[in-house]
Amino acid sequence: MAKLLAIAYFRERGFRDDIIEKFQLGYSPNEWSAFTDAAVKAGYKLDYLAKTGLSIVKVEENKKFDRFKGRVMFPIHSLTGRVLGFGGRVLNSADKTQAKYVNSPESEIYNKSRVLYGAYFAKKAITQFDVCYLVEGYTDVISMHQAGVENVVASSGTSLTIDQIKLISRYTKNITILYDGDPAGIKASFRGIDMILEEGMNVRVVLFPDGDDPDSYAKKVSIDELKEYIGKSAKDFVSFKTSLLIDEVGNDPIKRAALVKDLAHTISIVPEGIQRQFYIKECSRLTGIDEQTLLREVNKLRYTKTQKEREAEHLKEAFVEHESEGYDDQQQQGKN
Ligand code: ATP
Ligand code: MN
Repeated sequence: MAKLLAIAYFRERGFRDDIIEKFQLGYSPNEWSAFTDAAVKAGYKLDYLAKTGLSIVKVEENKKFDRFKGRVMFPIHSLTGRVLGFGGRVLNSADKTQAKYVNSPESEIYNKSRVLYGAYFAKKAITQFDVCYLVEGYTDVISMHQAGVENVVASSGTSLTIDQIKLISRYTKNITILYDGDPAGIKASFRGIDMILEEGMNVRVVLFPDGDDPDSYAKKVSIDELKEYIGKSAKDFVSFKTSLLIDEVGNDPIKRAALVKDLAHTISIVPEGIQRQFYIKECSRLTGIDEQTLLREVNKLRYTKTQKEREAEHLKEAFVEHESEGYDDQQQQGKN
């Protein structure tokens, strides 16, 4: 019964059966401990089920619950295809009393900040096409995959981390962010841009029309239209930020200065000098500020950053010295 319900849900969302199979999508029955009972019966230790967060065990009351009760399940795989954790979605998101998605908690095997949803299925295509598409959700990964775009991953269960970016950098230096064009998506993309640049990687951004994510958009248009949309909307970060903010800025000189400062800040993060020069040129062309002024601003920001890093380093050294002195003191005291 439960199985039929899950298959109906995924089919309703337009997922093909081979895709449901491939991503090992499933369902956790809508009963308090159906999963836990079945797992214990199959020989899994309750302690293990509790540690991985699949079951919630209340020892003093002698009760156990399924964390994912009544949810469709998205297994999260390691790079070698082993299941590390799960995301679980309510069947009906109109019911606002329950979180739409629940994720496995951190555990010995599941370190959220180091895992990307879909990476196992994407790694080959990422290398082949030398670019990785970064989306927000499980269903975005799956729908893109179904549409034939397989080099796609999501930072599910957490906002994007440096470790996740480093993981992608093992396969390609190029990341294209594909986010929803709502304010939250825009904010998340700004944050992603800075983090990706900091790792010395190239970043482009595609925003979907407000209210659409890659999943819903992929359902509305043909596969070719989806690919064309991504191809023609992908912008490097300078033109992305400028095009988003320029309307708002208009001819107001104070706002214009703030936009240019913001761009200069992001450019200053780029580790490579030649690339910075390229972005400065583009920024100058789009905003009308001359290159020399931009270059001075960028260099000033880089200088301040280096100074700050040096200070932090000095502080750390001083602290470590102080600590070890304290340790010696204690040793001495212990001896007396
Ligand atoms: P759907 O299309 O199934 O409604 P979505 O991917 O469009 O899902 P969003 O609300 O845009 O859902 O969330 C994007 C991603 O953020 C989800 O795929 C999930 O990984 C994560 N997420 C959303 N809500 C939660 C939550 N309450 N707790 C943890 N993670 C969440
Ligand atoms: Mn969605």
